[in-house]
Amino acid sequence: GPRSQELIARKAQAVAKGVGHTIPVSVAAAGGGVIVDADGNSIIDLGSGIAVTGVGNSNPRVVDAVKAQLDAFTHTCFTVAPYEGYVAVAEKLNELTPGDHEKRTALFNSGAEAVENAIKVARHHTKKMAVVAFDHAYHGRTNLTMGLTAKNIPYKNGFGPFAPEVYRAPLSYPFRDGGLSGAEAAARAITQIEKQIGAENLAAIIIEPIQGEGGFIVPAQGFLPALVEWANANDVVFIADEVQTGFARTGAWFASEHEGIVPDVIVTAKGIAGGLPLSAVTGRAEIMDSAMAGGLGGTYAGSPLACAAGLAAIEAYEEDGLIERAKQIGSVLIGRLNALRTADPRIGDVRGRGAMVAVELVDPVTGAPDAALTAKVAAYAHANGVLVLTCGTYGNVIRFLPPLTIGDELLVEGLEVVAEGLRRA
Ligand code: PMP
Repeated sequence: GPRSQELIARKAQAVAKGVGHTIPVSVAAAGGGVIVDADGNSIIDLGSGIAVTGVGNSNPRVVDAVKAQLDAFTHTCFTVAPYEGYVAVAEKLNELTPGDHEKRTALFNSGAEAVENAIKVARHHTKKMAVVAFDHAYHGRTNLTMGLTAKNIPYKNGFGPFAPEVYRAPLSYPFRDGGLSGAEAAARAITQIEKQIGAENLAAIIIEPIQGEGGFIVPAQGFLPALVEWANANDVVFIADEVQTGFARTGAWFASEHEGIVPDVIVTAKGIAGGLPLSAVTGRAEIMDSAMAGGLGGTYAGSPLACAAGLAAIEAYEEDGLIERAKQIGSVLIGRLNALRTADPRIGDVRGRGAMVAVELVDPVTGAPDAALTAKVAAYAHANGVLVLTCGTYGNVIRFLPPLTIGDELLVEGLEVVAEGLRRA
């Protein structure tokens, strides 16, 4: 509509081009799985602002808590004058994350910032420097996290040089690695790490338990536990980047739980606070306590407003049964997408857990990734009122990340539009 068009024109004049957008709208309101634009159009939200608004946009618990906090105080800087909200979020994360060992938490603003700090503490604790990330990984856009991220265009191209001592290992990618078992894929990665880096130089392994931007890749069963076992045996800190998978998204508090792994350090963000900027690093007390006072922090890190939102969002996940709801959303998505796949060989793979599900679109004859088809389907959905996101190293994955508060009717309606886009493409 005209109002959205006008805003997009202003954006082009005012905002740096590197800051892109998926749909050309001017958002006026959002909630209940719907985004309303300034022209009054309703868009079904199957992206949750990239897995952030799991509790729904403007969740009433979050809104009330942030309003109350706004009236009390907005900022003191936690590292200058502490307040309860920060400590309460830390206590909650120490309790909810996998493992019953003693833990400590530090809060930050963004996923990338938390990843950087996880690497900082791992290096400080182990007194080693090297870090291993995996093929297809995405960990952020700061310098160190760009280095950890695999995909060049658009994330890294021309933005170097990148931080040293970052190495890449092969992932378990069942759809594309010829059916390696989890144990085989782990052995391949571990051999490469031992031959090319050496455990005595390696501070940390960082991995997304289910890759997000890289294509919703669920590693073969046993891959993650084998890596954890090797890391534990070699004084290497195992860091789970649960920025996209955390907080009920996959039908568990954290995706690590599906494989029964206990990461030494877990990085969270996105879904943690229902839309306010908050991220966290939670880990074994002896690792997290290694850095001296003043070594971790930031002016806004764990701001009072974000912490109030975080506590309210966590309460919403708990009290409103959203873990269960994520599982139900997953069965609806997987059921319908598998039915589509039976009739359409361009859907090469349907995968994911809970409300984190994707299809990989391919050439039915060669199995080659079909990014053009993926772009067409997404464009059809966008033109017809459904916000769906794409991802993947090859740009051929359509991902579904609905708010966990979405109703089945809206979810199925959105899915139907995507299916129609595929039929027409
Ligand atoms: N890690 C993962 C797994 C992510 O999905 C993202 C964001 N897509 C990040 C890190 C970076 O988070 P942020 O954009 O908040 O810096």
